[in-house]
Amino acid sequence: MELLSTPIDFLKGVGPAKADLLKKELRIFTYRDLITYYPFRYVDKSKIFKVYDLNADLPFIQLKGEVIKFETIGKGRAKRLVAHFKDDTGVIKLIWFKGITWIRSSIKLNTEYLVFGKPTCFKNTFSLVHPELDLWEDYNKKAHVGLQGVYHSSEKLSAKGLNSRGILKLLKNLIPLLKNDIKETLSLKILTQLNLPTKEDSLINIHIPKNNNDFIRAQKRLKFEEFFFLQLHLLKLKLIRTKRLKGYPFPKIDTHFNNFYNNHIPFELTGAQKRVLKEIRRDVQSEAQMNRLLQGDVGSGKTLVAFLSMLIAVDNGFQSSIMAPTEILARQHMDTISEYCKELDIKVGILTGSSKTKERKELHEKLESGELNILIGTHALIEDKVKFRNLGLVIIDEQHRFGVSQRSKLWKKNDFPPHMLVMTATPIPRTLSMTLYGDLEVSVIDELPPGRKEVKTVWKTDSNRLKVIGFIREQIKLGRQIYIVFPLIQESEVLDYKNLMDGYESLIRDFPLPEFQVSVLHGQMKAEDKEYEMKRFVDGVTDIMVATTVIEVGVNVPNASVMIIESSERFGLSQLHQLRGRVGRGAEQSYCILMSGNKVSTEGKERLKTMVENSDGFKISEVDLRLRGAGDMMGTKQSGALNFKIADLVKDGNILEYSRNVAIQLLEEDENLEREENKNILKAYLPYAKQRNNWSRIS
Ligand code: ADP
Ligand code: MG
Repeated sequence: MELLSTPIDFLKGVGPAKADLLKKELRIFTYRDLITYYPFRYVDKSKIFKVYDLNADLPFIQLKGEVIKFETIGKGRAKRLVAHFKDDTGVIKLIWFKGITWIRSSIKLNTEYLVFGKPTCFKNTFSLVHPELDLWEDYNKKAHVGLQGVYHSSEKLSAKGLNSRGILKLLKNLIPLLKNDIKETLSLKILTQLNLPTKEDSLINIHIPKNNNDFIRAQKRLKFEEFFFLQLHLLKLKLIRTKRLKGYPFPKIDTHFNNFYNNHIPFELTGAQKRVLKEIRRDVQSEAQMNRLLQGDVGSGKTLVAFLSMLIAVDNGFQSSIMAPTEILARQHMDTISEYCKELDIKVGILTGSSKTKERKELHEKLESGELNILIGTHALIEDKVKFRNLGLVIIDEQHRFGVSQRSKLWKKNDFPPHMLVMTATPIPRTLSMTLYGDLEVSVIDELPPGRKEVKTVWKTDSNRLKVIGFIREQIKLGRQIYIVFPLIQESEVLDYKNLMDGYESLIRDFPLPEFQVSVLHGQMKAEDKEYEMKRFVDGVTDIMVATTVIEVGVNVPNASVMIIESSERFGLSQLHQLRGRVGRGAEQSYCILMSGNKVSTEGKERLKTMVENSDGFKISEVDLRLRGAGDMMGTKQSGALNFKIADLVKDGNILEYSRNVAIQLLEEDENLEREENKNILKAYLPYAKQRNNWSRIS
């Protein structure tokens, strides 16, 4: 057995109780798990701060001084030990909530100590909570260690002596054992090319850095490696798919496409639309199945690109299907696409949950006979009963709303899987896209059609309510329509309606708008009621649409020019951006008013400011990633794929970028990693791939 696979129980300093806790609390089962349990930050042990220098932004720091007085304050759970700690510039408090008696008896008064902790500030006094102390005398005997790792621990572990320092001690026991047992996982070529240290040196220096330079190189190597194996894996998956999965080649661009493109297209394509269309054409012409993700901001014109792709399918004798997440959206696509098809000899049908049995039957027949060229629909079209004569292209709109299993069901609707184009109006940063969709082809529409006026965005607090209501009146008198959106406070559809009505009623109680017609739309309504309300708004019968976020996706009402988002501080950035995308669709100047309470958290403020200052969805997504981190941004479903031990998608974008390039180059030279020079990589990759494949695939 490999030494690294040794159970953690065997390590010196780890008894049964500690082993148990390490497993339960930190999921450290083996030597390998411990050696890859990296510090989350470092302290510069060679630097000693003064009380006078402290500020609340400092990370963990060291101070040298004496405890001049102890106090025990509070009762029960609030009971705490406070030590007044003094250096030659001032006094701060050291605070402990646990282990009070033991700590009180082990610290000597008026004796020099080195304390270590993170300063926090409360009412202008600084304190260190649960700091660690070393006798100055002891510390001074040792050589200066420079950087020292700080490890995440837990209350239970700390109680057993496994606080950050305790974990470091275990590592100091482990590292000498592993000498010569840590196998290199990269090739000499890559190490030399990127000037990276060996795996062994990196693992030692990440825990116990010899000096700053070795530490930085170790960190870079481990980050690189983590990204590299993921990229290698994603690129391998992509290779396997394009090799194994035969697709239906669409070699021709023929009458339907040309006729529409030359005679009926309502506007000239933007540069980005043209580029993406070319990318799609290249894919569908080849023998392999296309798997392409199309990212484009709201309003960037994805539908037209989708339609042109479907025309290519028709020209090659294939049917296509476009699936949307909601009935409203499907109907909207139906309207747009039927309009495009007016002058073409193309049959379009729609299938949703509310399609009647008779319609369905007719549709089924037409699909099987091949009479129908394009089928638009919701989830309903995944139903097994739906059979196509020859489905060649599937387009999924707002792909994040669907799961993988739904997608794969569509694959099975023909002998070979059809070409897939998945579209999303939720732009994500490039680093995330490379990680989550690294095995897909990715296209980006990064340009809006010309002539769009930027939506004027302002942030108002409740005290400006009267003015906002005045503005609503003014705009409606000018003939415009208004959206007022309320957040879903509880994550429950039953409460959805209540939240909405409570919110709206309290709004109009203070500021009635009796002269206007109002539509209400929420998640609990039946599809046909939603449809009805939506239609009234689309037709201009109603002036105001009061809604929850059900209107978030894709709805298009060009005459609606004001979006008011209530309690906007409760929304995430991408949702705010999606909502704002509902206006600015017509010729008129549009507005987005972000309403909030007077008290907003720092992060909430940053979100709202970001919305006011930016209109580009990609830029907004970068801020979102920085504020929330990748896991929260993409939801728990995908967080498995986004868990890195040391690499950081926010900070290490450049390392990610070159790790992908190195992986691409490697696979070009040695697709199966068969060469002698790549044997380390192969050996490390095989178990990695196995583990990775056991995870559920991301959508
Ligand atoms: P999304 O990418 O959000 O799905 P849509 O496809 O709904 O965007 O397009 C938004 C609007 O832009 C539609 O009204 C569409 O007709 C219009 N549009 C699309 N492409 C162009 C273009 N090249 N020039 C002008 N308008 C366009
Ligand atoms: Mg769309």
